[in-house]
Amino acid sequence: MDLFCPVEEVKGIGPKTAEILHKAGIFTLRDLLYYLPRTYENYQSATRIADLRPGKVVIRGKIKELAVNRTRRRNFTITEGIISDDSGSVRAVWFNQPYRAKQFDKNKEYCFSGVYDFSYGRYQLMSPSSVVAQDMPTSSGFVPVYPAKYTLKPHFFNKIIANLRANFTYIPDMLPTEAVDSATIKSRSRAEALFAVHFPENEKDVDRGRNYLAYEELFELILAAKLNKRENQKLKSASLPFSATKTREIVAKLPFKLTNAQRIATWDILQDLEKTTPMNRLLQGDVGSGKTVVAALAAHQAISNGKQAALLAPTAILATQHAESLDTLLRPFGVKVGLLIGPSKHKDDLKRRIHSGEVDLVVGTHAILTDDTRFHNLALCIIDEQHRFGVAQRQKLLMKNPDSETVPHLLTMTATPIPRSLQLSIFGDLDISILNELPKGRQPIETKIMPEVNAREDLYPNVRNALSKKQQVYWICKVIEDTDDAISVKKQAEKLKKVFKDAKIAFLHGRMKLAEKDQIMGDFAAGIIDILVSTTVVEVGVNVPNATIMVIMNAENYGLAQLHQLRGRVGRGSEKSYCYLIVDGDKEPSKRLKELEKSTDGFYLAEKDLEIRGPGEIYGSLQHGALNLKIATLADTKLISAASKRAEDFAKNPENMVKYKELAKNIKKYQQLTTLN
Ligand code: ADP
Ligand code: MG
Repeated sequence: MDLFCPVEEVKGIGPKTAEILHKAGIFTLRDLLYYLPRTYENYQSATRIADLRPGKVVIRGKIKELAVNRTRRRNFTITEGIISDDSGSVRAVWFNQPYRAKQFDKNKEYCFSGVYDFSYGRYQLMSPSSVVAQDMPTSSGFVPVYPAKYTLKPHFFNKIIANLRANFTYIPDMLPTEAVDSATIKSRSRAEALFAVHFPENEKDVDRGRNYLAYEELFELILAAKLNKRENQKLKSASLPFSATKTREIVAKLPFKLTNAQRIATWDILQDLEKTTPMNRLLQGDVGSGKTVVAALAAHQAISNGKQAALLAPTAILATQHAESLDTLLRPFGVKVGLLIGPSKHKDDLKRRIHSGEVDLVVGTHAILTDDTRFHNLALCIIDEQHRFGVAQRQKLLMKNPDSETVPHLLTMTATPIPRSLQLSIFGDLDISILNELPKGRQPIETKIMPEVNAREDLYPNVRNALSKKQQVYWICKVIEDTDDAISVKKQAEKLKKVFKDAKIAFLHGRMKLAEKDQIMGDFAAGIIDILVSTTVVEVGVNVPNATIMVIMNAENYGLAQLHQLRGRVGRGSEKSYCYLIVDGDKEPSKRLKELEKSTDGFYLAEKDLEIRGPGEIYGSLQHGALNLKIATLADTKLISAASKRAEDFAKNPENMVKYKELAKNIKKYQQLTTLN
């Protein structure tokens, strides 16, 4: 079976359909076979219509009286039909699926699966999925549901894949035997695995098939990372020798003593910079652990060797703040810091000075990445909150060095902890330093879950007390405009103005003009504003040590990681800080909030979050940005460690990548995602 035969040659696919498939990224038979079901419907346990109870149900019957109604809202359709069996009939409705009206043959029996619910004044079956009873692919009644693509409906894929059923046994393995850890893997071959996923008899089959395919995917990804590491070691960077005297001078001038963790991380980085192989290091540290000063020491080492450094931050506010603190820190040592944010047309002079090398350290947002920002001799790139940037942007930054012989060293920073087991394997091409200790003198933040009705009595006095000590307050709201479920920043600000009459209160949200946002954030940082009512735009990075209270309205609406990030905006000075998680009603608070109340340790919370929500949710953006896993998830820790071991051995033999063509082709794709050059 030639897996690379174009989809046009697959039975049942004409040129028009092929065109749509191409748009969806499906070009070959292989792509089609890896187009996996989104979920499975179990039509096994059909209920008699007379016995229906609210909830998820499966029924078996014929359908009649199909009609599509357009509502007054433009482009919105409701398709209704009546399903009957011997015991009775029930109404079914579909929203915005007008094709349903033409889909059914009134003489055929179908199985329907959907939610039987009270809605629009009566009980009905809501948007059921369906399959012709006779066509049920297995006797089990266990049917794959494929994701729809453009005009191609899920059923289309059932049909096409069913046509191929007899050929599945001819699917060759992609992984050579030495790459497969048969103790961990549940299928014997790829053919078996793909068959199990497309034509399962039960959940167990699906699980067995997915297990193999997930392993395959992880093996490719990890192998790519390992090969990249080898390739990166062939690239050259400028060696930036370490000077103990100069570094000591700066450290001595700091207004605080470095934590041990900061010392070790700095040491790792400064050592890396001496080498002619490019550094590719991730500095991972909880909010408030002091990553910025570590970055400053790294930048200084590049600059004292006559080179330039760049720091990329995700928001203008954050870039501005970084520029200010780096300027304070490094100007006494002759470092010229330039801030590059906003529309670039007003920045000609700054850009000229960056190009000539007059500016040593360029701090900025995406504006750094535009083509007309040219460097003189960029030797170190630092990216803050790296998960906010895509691979392409990182690549672009690394290309900014005009010297074609070398690439800049790369330091990325993040406050989103990645559990240890994953670091070693998936991020095999990265070196990692961890700041696992907060600066001394910080008092742990006290966190309280509080029903909104108690706020007046239990919260307002504490706020008043903080304000009387000239401390500041963050007040987070979910929304910009009021909704039924949540209070908006504007309304909350008005409300607080009535309660705290002498306080200066302002609000902030993402839809305000950039200049306005910067002004307000600046005023808050300067202590001109007492209470800042804001959406989560304040989430990343900003540092206002004088803020000691964080109130989060509708706290149930946020994920654990996000709440932890938000909370990290306080507790940054020496005064005791508080975080109030406001929930409505007197419902039992979620596990998530209780964990947050219990712990301030980002690594512990990351593990808990993994447990509570599963890795798909948490590392979703990470997966889309860099990893792009389709089948495996980061929770497949057993598969990850097995694949990692095999990949290590496999990478040692360069011939392998010539011998195994399909594997090599896929690896190339992944390598582009993690490579430095
Ligand atoms: P993050 O890791 O979240 O980016 P920052 O670099 O913004 O943290 O540091 C948070 C605050 O802690 C800053 O005000 C910084 O000056 C301060 N800080 C950093 N290191 C130390 C230290 N060793 N001792 C005391 N304060 C420190
Ligand atoms: Mg930071």
